[in-house]
Amino acid sequence: NDTIGVLALQGDFREHLQALRAIGADAMAVRTAAELGRCQALVLPGGESTTIDKLARAFGVRDLIRERIAAGMPVYGSCAGMILLADRIEGGTSDQETFGGLDIVVRRNAFGRQVDSFEEDIDIAGIEGPPVRAVFIRAPAVLEVGQGVDVIGRTAAGAAGDRIVAVRSGNLLATSFHPEVTGDRRIHELFVKIARKEL
Ligand code: GLN
Repeated sequence: NDTIGVLALQGDFREHLQALRAIGADAMAVRTAAELGRCQALVLPGGESTTIDKLARAFGVRDLIRERIAAGMPVYGSCAGMILLADRIEGGTSDQETFGGLDIVVRRNAFGRQVDSFEEDIDIAGIEGPPVRAVFIRAPAVLEVGQGVDVIGRTAAGAAGDRIVAVRSGNLLATSFHPEVTGDRRIHELFVKIARKEL
């Protein structure tokens, strides 16, 4: 079974399902523990991390997601999904919890508010060809990475500053930006390879 689930509680899960299907992956929306049980990998979409956290508890999938991550399930988190994968948040609401598993510290809304959303071309280690067009929407940034976490992308030292915006640690991949909205499928291709243990 190489089905990739997309957590479909809130956020832009439809775009991730579309991106995965466009590259031939078997993808399904996940809202329940039974649905997660049919998947060998999971995508955590962009959206609102506090809402996704609350809904995951309400739908009874939160503990299972945590356990599966700890047991090695491949997971890709984009934007809010990156926050949910992070072991620590700086600047979260006081009761905000994450699924965790990825040894990073993230800062929510690190680039400012909605009006400060921006795009930038970013070179991602391990991705061939032209840089990836990265769309940042109230995006988090990675402040610290633990041992075993590879920094695979950062913004240029410019207006947005030199920030870590893409990381990989074993089966876990996270980006501050939203590749699902651009039509460039290379980040999803990278994750499918990780999920299939080809990388
Ligand atoms: N700012 C959002 C959060 O903290 C993330 C934004 C996004 O996913 N586009 O969850």
